[in-house]
Amino acid sequence: MPRTIAVVGGGAAGVILAAHLLRAAAVSRPVRVLLVDPAETPGRGLPYRTTDPRHTLNAVVARLSAFDDDPGHLLRWCGPARVPAGPGTFLQRADFGRYLTELLPSIDVPEGSALRHVRGSVVDIDDRDGEHGPVALTLADGGILRADSAVLALGTPPPVRLPEYEPWGDRYVADAWSADLDARAAGARRVLVVGTGLTTLDVVTHLHPLLPGARFTAVSRGGTLPAAHAADPLPPAIDVDLCGAVGAAGTPTVLDTALDTVRQRVAAERAAGRDWRAVIDAVRPQVNPAWARLSPEDRVTFQREHARSWENVRHRMSHAMRTHVDRLVADGVLTVGTVAEVRGGDRWDTSAFDLVVGATGLPPLTSPGWNPLVDALLARGALRPHPLGTGLDLTPDAALVDAAGTGHPRLRAMGLARRGLEWECTSVPDLRRQAALLAEDLLADDLLTNVQPADVPLGAHSA
Ligand SMILES: Cc1cc2nc3c(=O)[nH]c(=O)nc-3n(C[C@H](O)[C@H](O)[C@H](O)COP(=O)(O)OP(=O)(O)OC[C@H]3O[C@@H](n4cnc5c(N)ncnc54)[C@H](O)[C@@H]3O)c2cc1C
Repeated sequence: MPRTIAVVGGGAAGVILAAHLLRAAAVSRPVRVLLVDPAETPGRGLPYRTTDPRHTLNAVVARLSAFDDDPGHLLRWCGPARVPAGPGTFLQRADFGRYLTELLPSIDVPEGSALRHVRGSVVDIDDRDGEHGPVALTLADGGILRADSAVLALGTPPPVRLPEYEPWGDRYVADAWSADLDARAAGARRVLVVGTGLTTLDVVTHLHPLLPGARFTAVSRGGTLPAAHAADPLPPAIDVDLCGAVGAAGTPTVLDTALDTVRQRVAAERAAGRDWRAVIDAVRPQVNPAWARLSPEDRVTFQREHARSWENVRHRMSHAMRTHVDRLVADGVLTVGTVAEVRGGDRWDTSAFDLVVGATGLPPLTSPGWNPLVDALLARGALRPHPLGTGLDLTPDAALVDAAGTGHPRLRAMGLARRGLEWECTSVPDLRRQAALLAEDLLADDLLTNVQPADVPLGAHSA
């Protein structure tokens, strides 16, 4: 009998998980995947629905296949899809979104298995094995879905509104991805962008042609833009043993040792005239294993003192974007600084800017109001935030931990929800790794009982 897995959220995470489940079903047991997402066609989620050709990926084709064991999958899709690309190409995000929307239709559904896209939003999940089966998902339209287990792949909350920018009223667009950004930006001449990460570059390169003559100022606490890829974005791979350096779990110097290893190796590569980014690329897959061996105190220290500089070198803009941004800076179109420098006092002078756009980092997944499902689970004590704040408290196999500290093996999580359990958890390589492990786990023999096929879905949903 097939096992029924509900995947809540059909962005990159949900679609990649569904693909992995179907592939795993071919060699283990049949599966019925219920992919619940409000979009007409799942796949694009938040980052890949943009149509702006200036919005490119921050990693190359060779790194962003949906499958760890098939790194050429994305490149092979590009040819027939008429997307010109080589392994070192930074695709437009719109094209990558198309890859994701075409991923599931391209997979052979094994006999006895099924995939359904349920168009809607989940507003509650009950895993107390009641009249609706092991897991009952309530949809916004009142429909109920039954499943053996559910995976939350909800993405990220929008940036929080910051009180210091409220005086701009309607001219404060707190979320750079708001659908009405262009309309609200119309006529702006002096734009303040809050944040200096990759989203800020998306905002500036998008609005610049729409607002001829406008000047942009980007601010953050550090006041620095992300690092850039080299002209050759695929430097030869090198060996860096971060975990060996990390040493025994819980030793007081674990974090310092790891950081020293990275710094020394970066300095050595630079001194030898080689690309220092190869060190970051070598360390990146070792970050989560190293994170698992850090003491709780070291994790807090990393998040507070080192995360920003790590993210700065880890999430890099393409070389082409660097060239474009350098030109904007040289032409006086873009100025980058710290909040303190640009504000110049305790309060903002609202006459200095006629538009403020928020492009700050990742708010806690448990932020109230962005997602009715999170609100409901939080209110019932069915989940709780991770002590580090951004993600959820999860067991080592990514099962939700409730307010009483009990793990719920039928409710799992992907993406940002894992921040805390892991550090690297939101990019495509992280999602495909999570998906492969989850698929194996959710289809394993010992996962409790199966629900009856006739029970899903209820209500008017697309198939
Ligand atoms: C602007 C931007 C650019 C990025 N660029 C890159 C990149 O170049 N390379 C890279 O590796 N990573 C990149 N990332 C990281 C990115 O987080 C991942 O690549 C990926 O898109 C995350 O997918 P997700 O499915 O977790 O989230 P999302 O894309 O946000 O999708 C979540 C989906 O869940 C749905 N949903 C939420 N709640 C519910 C509910 N209650 N019921 C039903 N459906 C629900 C939403 O409608 C949405 O469709 C980027 C992120 C951003 C924000």
